[in-house]
Amino acid sequence: MHPVPELGQSGVDDLDKALVDGLLAGNRRALAKAITLVESTRTEHRQRAERLLDALLPHTGRTMRIGISGVPGVGKSTFIEALGMYLIAGGHRVAVLAVDPSSSVHGGSILGDKTRMELLSQRTEAFIRPSPSSGSLGGVAEHTREALLLCEAAGYDIIIVETVGVGQSEIAVAGMTDAFVLLMLPNAGDDLQAIKKGIMELADLVVFNKADIDPTAAQLAAAQMRSALSMLHPASPNWNPPVLTLSATRRDGLADFWQVIEQFKSTLLATGEFAARRRHQAQAWMWQQIDTGLRSRFREHPAVKTAMAELVVSVEAGSTTPTAAAQRLLGLASRIF
Ligand code: GDP
Repeated sequence: MHPVPELGQSGVDDLDKALVDGLLAGNRRALAKAITLVESTRTEHRQRAERLLDALLPHTGRTMRIGISGVPGVGKSTFIEALGMYLIAGGHRVAVLAVDPSSSVHGGSILGDKTRMELLSQRTEAFIRPSPSSGSLGGVAEHTREALLLCEAAGYDIIIVETVGVGQSEIAVAGMTDAFVLLMLPNAGDDLQAIKKGIMELADLVVFNKADIDPTAAQLAAAQMRSALSMLHPASPNWNPPVLTLSATRRDGLADFWQVIEQFKSTLLATGEFAARRRHQAQAWMWQQIDTGLRSRFREHPAVKTAMAELVVSVEAGSTTPTAAAQRLLGLASRIF
C-alpha cells in the first residue's frame, strides 16, 4: 500500500499532481488513468477523483458537446468515425464517450468495445472511451459526465457522447450535451417508436443515415419527419430541428451536418440559450447527486435498515399500507440528517 500523500495547496496530492499535469498537457494515458479513477467506486478513489475534478474544472467547458443516439445497426459508429476523421482534418481534437445501459444491466454491451472506429482510434487527435460497465444507468451517466469534463481539460474541443436508442439513456445524454442528434433509418418505423417514447422532443437535429441505399426513400422519410416534428414541441424555443439525410459509409453529407451544428451553436450562443442550458444542466446534476446521496445515506442507516426489514414484511402481507410504512420510515430522517 502507498502511504497517504500530503495534500498540496491546490488540494491535489503529489501522486495526482503528475496526473493533472499530464492530462492538461493532453497526454492520453493520463486522461485514461484519470477516467479510471472517476469510474472507481472505492471511497479513496472517489475522494481523489473529486479533488482532481476540482483542480481541472477551470480548464473545462470551452467545447461543443454532441449527443448521438440511434438504435443498434443504424450506423452510429460508422457515422462517428467518419465525422471524427472529418473534424480532425479540420484541426479539431475529438473525444468519443459512450453511455450504454446494457453494459450495466447484464455486463454485455450493445455499443461494443474499442474495436469499433478503428481508423479514428489510431489517431492521436482522437480519444475513444467505451461505456463504464458497472453501476446503474444513473451511475454510468454520472461517470460519463465526469469523463467528459476530463476530456475537455485534456484539450479535446469536440466531445461526442454516443448512446443506444433504448430506455432512459437518451434523456441522460441529452442532459449532458449541447446538441442532441437522433440518427435514424429510412423505412425502419423507429420514428414512431421515438415519438412514442418522447425522445423526438429531445432532438436538436434528426439525421437519416444510409441514404445511399435508396435516396428517394430517404428523402421521403425526411419529409415525413419534418411534418411530424412540426407538430411536436421543439427542445429549444430558438431552433426548429432540421432533418438531414446522409451516408456514413460514403462519407456523404458530413460537411452539411457540421454546418448545421455550427449554425445551431451560433444561434444558441446569440440567444443566450447555450449558456442557459449548461447552467440548467449543472444545477440538475447537482440535485441528482443530492438525491442519490440522500437516498443511499437513508437506506444505509442502521435504524432505517431495522425498521425497513419489519415494514417490508407487513406491507407485503397487506397489514400496513405502503403510505403508512413510508411515513414511518421518513419519520426516521430527522435522526439521520
Ligand atoms: P451502430 O450499431 O449504430 O454503431 O451501427 P454500425 O456503425 O456498426 O453500422 C451497422 C451496419 O450498417 C454496418 O454494417 C455498417 O457498415 C452499415 N452502415 C453504416 N452506415 C451506413 C451507410 O451510410 N450506408 C450503408 N449502406 N451502410 C451503412
